[in-house]
Amino acid sequence: MAVRDPTGFLRREYEQLVENELDWKLRVLDGPSLPRCVVDGRKVLMLCSNNYLSMSNHPKVKRAAIDAIKTHGAGSGSVRPIAGNMDLHVELERRLARFKDAEASLVYQTGFAANAGLIPQLADAGDLIVSDELNHGSIIDGVRLSKADRAVYKHCDAEDLKKVLEKAEEHSPAYRRVLIITDGVFSMDGDIAPLDGIAAQAHDHGAMVYVDDAHGEGVLGKGGRGIVSHFMLRREEVQVEMGTFSKAFGVVGGHVSGSRDLVNYALNKSRTWLLSGSHPPAVAAACIAAIDVLEKEPEHVRDLWVNTEYFRKGIRSMGFDTGKSQTPIVPVMIGESGAAKKFSSRLFELGIFALPIVFPMVARDKARIRTIMNSALTRKDLDEALAAFQKVGKELGLL
Ligand code: PMP
Repeated sequence: MAVRDPTGFLRREYEQLVENELDWKLRVLDGPSLPRCVVDGRKVLMLCSNNYLSMSNHPKVKRAAIDAIKTHGAGSGSVRPIAGNMDLHVELERRLARFKDAEASLVYQTGFAANAGLIPQLADAGDLIVSDELNHGSIIDGVRLSKADRAVYKHCDAEDLKKVLEKAEEHSPAYRRVLIITDGVFSMDGDIAPLDGIAAQAHDHGAMVYVDDAHGEGVLGKGGRGIVSHFMLRREEVQVEMGTFSKAFGVVGGHVSGSRDLVNYALNKSRTWLLSGSHPPAVAAACIAAIDVLEKEPEHVRDLWVNTEYFRKGIRSMGFDTGKSQTPIVPVMIGESGAAKKFSSRLFELGIFALPIVFPMVARDKARIRTIMNSALTRKDLDEALAAFQKVGKELGLL
């Protein structure tokens, strides 16, 4: 039977989202992403960007992008395996591997493309993927593209992981490979995966470990080298370290680091890598410059942590709960979704830009304002933000 209105669902479903207040209302950033910026025409303090180190506006990073356009043009012309593999892409991978102290690195167009492209290649029919229950959506989509069996373990619980792995050993026929995947830092709570415990379980059960360190890079470990460095683990213990250039590195792009075997395999197998155009030269050059800045200017990571401790302490001393936060992601727990939304709009009126995280992203009674610290915030900025939180907290009867 012919469908009379084949696209009618577009409006119907959209209207449903609006009715349930689940639609995204996009705000517009007029100008650069800086701690003091202009959003929807209003001057605000930015407390929700992933630009942890303000690297997107570092003069060396901007200069590198401009220079690369002059020398290499605006685009790469192709996918990497055909005619789009520029010297800048190769240099970026060399520099990243050195930074991560890995044998080799591979750069993808985005972190999402890395997870969606590589995970299904690492585990297929006859294999098992074991995930933390709160893993990022891009990991979930990567897992969905695989024909492997799936299991989840309780959030950040290496003991529960152990039970899942023991149960998997009883599977008949025996699994060919087992892949454990976890976020390094969880973006809703700002807590850190117990990667040491996870790696120990993986070792005992002959499994591989894949960590998505999108929020750990530039933040954790020696000079911001990430979670593997933070736990002082060896490469053999965490075989796949995945990350992104879109957060602390301040640009865009995904990557994996590990053994040469991993990179050879990944680049020959990941469809997102093989079939999608490579980064514009400006992106590759800016990422190289960002690594350079991290290596030469340790003060940015240091400032990020000083700001984080100051803000978290200030928020807690007012009586707010910051949940399990151990990193520059500092959630301020509010409770009901409606209250969190109201809190965020009041903050915005007071010149503070921090978004509410509500159901279905978190449990119904666990709505929060998620703040993300930045190395370039001044003490004055932080005091202003704290005063606004206190004011709104009192107005809404939360303090
Ligand atoms: N993994 C995690 C944990 C993330 O938070 C994100 C970004 N939201 C990604 C992967 C995707 O990275 P990208 O922005 O580079 O696609």
